[in-house]
Amino acid sequence: MKYHIVTFGCAANEADSERIARFYEARGYTKARSIRTADDVIINTCMIRQKAEDRVYGLVHNLAQEKEKGRKLKIVVTGCMVGMAAREKTGKMLLLLKKKMPSVDEFLPIEEVGFDYAPIRTDKNYALVPITNGCNNFCTFCVVPMTRGREVSRAFEDILLECHGLAQQGYTHVTLVGQNVNSYGADLKKDKKRKVTYVKHLGRLRIPTLFPNLLEEVCKIEGLTLVDFISSNPWDFSDELIEVIAKNPKISRHIHLPVQSGDDGVLRRMNRWYTREQYLALISKLKSQISNVTISTDIIVGFPGETKEQFGNTVKLAKKVGFTKAYVSMYSDRPMTAAHKVYKDNVSHTEKKRRWKILEELINKSNLKAGTYQ
Ligand code: SF4
Repeated sequence: MKYHIVTFGCAANEADSERIARFYEARGYTKARSIRTADDVIINTCMIRQKAEDRVYGLVHNLAQEKEKGRKLKIVVTGCMVGMAAREKTGKMLLLLKKKMPSVDEFLPIEEVGFDYAPIRTDKNYALVPITNGCNNFCTFCVVPMTRGREVSRAFEDILLECHGLAQQGYTHVTLVGQNVNSYGADLKKDKKRKVTYVKHLGRLRIPTLFPNLLEEVCKIEGLTLVDFISSNPWDFSDELIEVIAKNPKISRHIHLPVQSGDDGVLRRMNRWYTREQYLALISKLKSQISNVTISTDIIVGFPGETKEQFGNTVKLAKKVGFTKAYVSMYSDRPMTAAHKVYKDNVSHTEKKRRWKILEELINKSNLKAGTYQ
């Protein structure tokens, strides 16, 4: 029996797919050369935007047509769409998924794969290493806390063991992956052997994290020459983390720091726990303490109620920071999110597109690379 995995979405999904491959091989399957020769097609889904979801429906539809023509095929759907349906207590969402995709044979919650299957990687130098799953931040636009649940950290020693193993196999570059790596270990605080950093929340140092310590330990592994991480929330990017990066030349000098908006009112409604000034202060610290650091970001345009003036504040912030790259997306109303429940998606598609184009041209097509931030 042969399997083929189609992965949509982020680095966390890519890392999950590497463990799904092992999950199948442990059951005697081998990898198919292509989707056409597979007995089982596993679709690892993403729900971050409607477009991502639509691509899944499109693929399932095409596979269903092949089944109708007589191809023997098992369609398995996993990832975010199944995660959200499994967490929705009334069962309505799972019923809806089954109704929308009647040709799917199995809905596989990613928790059934878990962290215990060693990933099957195709690259021989570069590896994604998951350190957490889920998120506790509840940004109002984001489905991740619903699709992946609350944040769960992998054991510190397991991560180190995996990184040591990778170095022994000749890997040189690892990316530590989590929805918000900065809060890694908040649920492991009883790990007394490790150095805990406290992060400020509501004016007090109260959230424990082991991430700076983890990063330091990974950098000590001989053979690894480049270590980076994704993704990092600005609100809990601690001074200790900056220090660790500054003194470890193995850590990438490129940091991805999603700002989402440059306007305080929009940030508040997004439930992002920082202000524009705090974000700029963090950028200033990074630039002054880490030589040659470059910053990329994520920005959402057309969040409910975003005025032209508020969008203008994002443009000004982008000019000030000098991002080397930005993943600019048009706001997409997502089920079960707070924004979906509370706000009206009231910025027209044409206006979202106009704002998207302005930022694309400003950041990704112009030469902001040099940065204009002083
Ligand atoms: S930090 Fe916010 S945007 Fe990122 S995964 Fe968590 S809820 Fe989503």
